[in-house]
Amino acid sequence: VWVRVKGVCKQNGLLILSVLAVVIGCLLGFFLRSKNLSEQEVKYFQFPGELLMRMLKMLILPLVVSSLMSGLAALDAKCSSRLGLITVSYYLWTTFLAVVVGIVMVLIIHPGGMAQKEDSEDSGKPIMSSADALLDLIRNMFPANLVQATFQQYRTNSVPIMKTPKMTVATSLTETTTRHALIYGIQDDNGTDIQNFQLDLTPPPDVVMRTLPGTSEGMNVLGIVIFSATMGENAGHFVNILTDSSLCRYFPFGIVFLVAGKILEMSDPSAMGKKLGFYAITVVMGLILHGLFILPSMYFFITKKSPIVYIRGILQALLISLATSSSSATLPITFKCLLENNHIDRRIIRFVLPVGATINMDGTALYEAVAAIFIAQVNNYELDFGQIITISITATAASIGAAGIPQAGLVTMVIVLTSVGLPTDDITLIIAVDWALDRFRTMVNVMGDALATGIMAHICRKDFIKEGDGVPLICETK
Ligand code: ASP
Repeated sequence: VWVRVKGVCKQNGLLILSVLAVVIGCLLGFFLRSKNLSEQEVKYFQFPGELLMRMLKMLILPLVVSSLMSGLAALDAKCSSRLGLITVSYYLWTTFLAVVVGIVMVLIIHPGGMAQKEDSEDSGKPIMSSADALLDLIRNMFPANLVQATFQQYRTNSVPIMKTPKMTVATSLTETTTRHALIYGIQDDNGTDIQNFQLDLTPPPDVVMRTLPGTSEGMNVLGIVIFSATMGENAGHFVNILTDSSLCRYFPFGIVFLVAGKILEMSDPSAMGKKLGFYAITVVMGLILHGLFILPSMYFFITKKSPIVYIRGILQALLISLATSSSSATLPITFKCLLENNHIDRRIIRFVLPVGATINMDGTALYEAVAAIFIAQVNNYELDFGQIITISITATAASIGAAGIPQAGLVTMVIVLTSVGLPTDDITLIIAVDWALDRFRTMVNVMGDALATGIMAHICRKDFIKEGDGVPLICETK
């Protein structure tokens, strides 16, 4: 028995350490809460966790840009458009299903009924009519000027994800993959455009990332392509540095501090009260139903393979998503799990996974629908059928627009609330529990992308056999 246990530990060492890290992080966090650390001490304590987040974030841009480019390059045009169409339709369908699950749960449990809103002055006061908000949402999906739209997005949502002493590459994590290549906003100190920094990656000193309102659009587009191609070659190394090397051993250590640090930061759980408790239970139950039953069942019915075996293969990624609350930061690990544990064809992973990380957030969609209806219930605001349909559409859209970063869903909630005239200020009602719910919905987001990749690999296996390029085709999961 001992030999077997030793074998299992050796095989799943990192996974076991990560689970332990989450547990130790929780215990340590609660223990240190009683010690009343100062804000500064908490900040120092959180530092190792912050480093882990930075390491993971560093990988996102090169990974997304390069995997999509090489993923697409490995497919022929017919194949990629078929794969693209099926993938996007599947993603939309599962997100919509998640919203429906959320709506059904919140209507049945009615957590807002247990709540008393103290300040009801502006209860139910519509901010904008639902039709206007919906039209606005659709209008924004078709920006008149694409370049301007990306700049606007960049200004409001940018997150620096790569920083060297000489250059900062920033990108908006809410972006679609093409928009990730916003790197064209690079200037040196004197405001001079850097035209070919992408090629040699040796920019002049003190180059900083900025938006360039006056830059020629043609040049920028060219820049994106060159940058992507260059990064494409480097991405493999980037990923290996963090996932294959000894740095990987840093993960459990970082996770302890990430989890404990968050617990130190959270507000007093006893102050949350009954109303938030029921709301949180509704969200978690919805997430469990969608993540552990609906999505795996779809995987089973389509592929006829065991979802349990498949999910076991991605456990490491699920744990990282629990610890980081970021599906984008988890992307490199999900990638590795699918490739190495579940043996999915890398051409499929490269295409389906980054697209999923950007647009497919079932957990977020479910949570947004529940939260919006909860806020309506707290305000004693009766939603009619049309408004519930509006919530389901806007929650789907808001989840597509949300970035794969911690608590991004809280920000895009504004779209959902505005669409039915609910007071956006009431987002503050749910903030207290959001840090925890975020972790669970991120897990479902990652699970959704990973299962979708397996399903797409199954659906498209014949295309690849036709291609027959010598690379091992779709392998069976273990
Ligand atoms: N944290 C989530 C993610 O990274 C997004 C959200 O719902 O806030 O997938």
